[in-house]
Amino acid sequence: MPQTKNLKKNLNFRSGFPLVGVLGAGQLGRMLALAGYPLGIQFRFLDLAPNSPAGQVAQAITGDFRDEATLQSFIEGVDVVTYEFENAPLETAEWIASRIPVFPTPIALKTAQDRLNEKNLFKRLGIETPCFAPVSSLNELHVACAEIGFPAVLKTRRLGYDGKGQWILNSLDESIKIWEEIEKDHVGEPISFILEGFIRFDREISIIAVRSRTGETVYYPLFENQHQGGILRITKSPAPDISLRLAKQATHAMTSLLDALDYVGVLTIEFFVYEDRLIANEIAPRVHNSGHGTIEGNECSQFENHLRAILGFPLGDVAPRGTSMMWNLLGEAPLTPDILSIPRTYLHLYGKEERPGRKIGHVTLLGESATELNDRFESVKKMAPQK
Ligand code: AMP
Repeated sequence: MPQTKNLKKNLNFRSGFPLVGVLGAGQLGRMLALAGYPLGIQFRFLDLAPNSPAGQVAQAITGDFRDEATLQSFIEGVDVVTYEFENAPLETAEWIASRIPVFPTPIALKTAQDRLNEKNLFKRLGIETPCFAPVSSLNELHVACAEIGFPAVLKTRRLGYDGKGQWILNSLDESIKIWEEIEKDHVGEPISFILEGFIRFDREISIIAVRSRTGETVYYPLFENQHQGGILRITKSPAPDISLRLAKQATHAMTSLLDALDYVGVLTIEFFVYEDRLIANEIAPRVHNSGHGTIEGNECSQFENHLRAILGFPLGDVAPRGTSMMWNLLGEAPLTPDILSIPRTYLHLYGKEERPGRKIGHVTLLGESATELNDRFESVKKMAPQK
């Protein structure tokens, strides 16, 4: 195995083969592990809950992210730590980073954990974003509504995901009512929200880039995303009919963010497209749901490229293998053998318990044209109940 010998010789991994520690052990972690095994990469996950999606395919420690003894055993022999969800505690990432490399660096985590930090960074870098104002009291809500107008979107600054922790506000009366409900749920706690202008977007897209420890950087072609109730349902890749100007603008915004955050790993920016303008919604300092289709749809997946980046390996080719469509499976899994009978259709189940609205897997379809994909998608939908 000459390649493995080179790996050992050049990179001095502590146990001979790279051992990657991952904070969080959900489906993103599971797909990281599955992408890393062919390269001889080993994994150790840390999660609060047992029987996690990643814990079913790799070594996983169950424990508190803030417990030093747990963290000490988590990093034992580990070469590099990464995270698969942006709500990993910042102090944990910083504690680990003072001992072994953590990529993306904790500054990226700090930025992405707070929508206000994120939006301020967009503004500082000249990246267009909806108008916004921080809101932590009813008085500030009045001021922000007057400044931003209606409709507007009220979002929690921290811990919101998949549309959770956000409300569309259409009038001052409605805003006050919603605020009173929020106050009831936060008795004795500080309330940190952000109010954003509502964008009547034509569509939503994302860009995913990868920067290696060596500085090498690659950009996947843009993805088009369709959400329902705040949850991603469908991603098309490459995003159809994107003007060169928009593509350049997305790449430019990405480069500024990678530089500003001294970034290593996969970074995603979600944008609204409005009248041929790109308006940044948010970033994700990790592999992203809109990139799941890269497993079959691109020469090298976002998962493998993230690992290559944090280990300092050469990055893989991001070129698409034709046109692809990724469909999130929510709530209930399809009958596996049925779906496998459809050509060029790839099923991923995450080993999660079925629950209404929960992301439990995804299906990727490959094709040569949009028409071919649409026909195949109709067959897939018939076989996959959605709850
Ligand atoms: P987020 O959690 O910020 O990614 O929001 C989830 C989804 O809600 C987005 O993908 C949009 O579909 C919608 N959304 C969020 N913010 C806005 C906004 N300011 N204007 C219009 N739609 C929004």
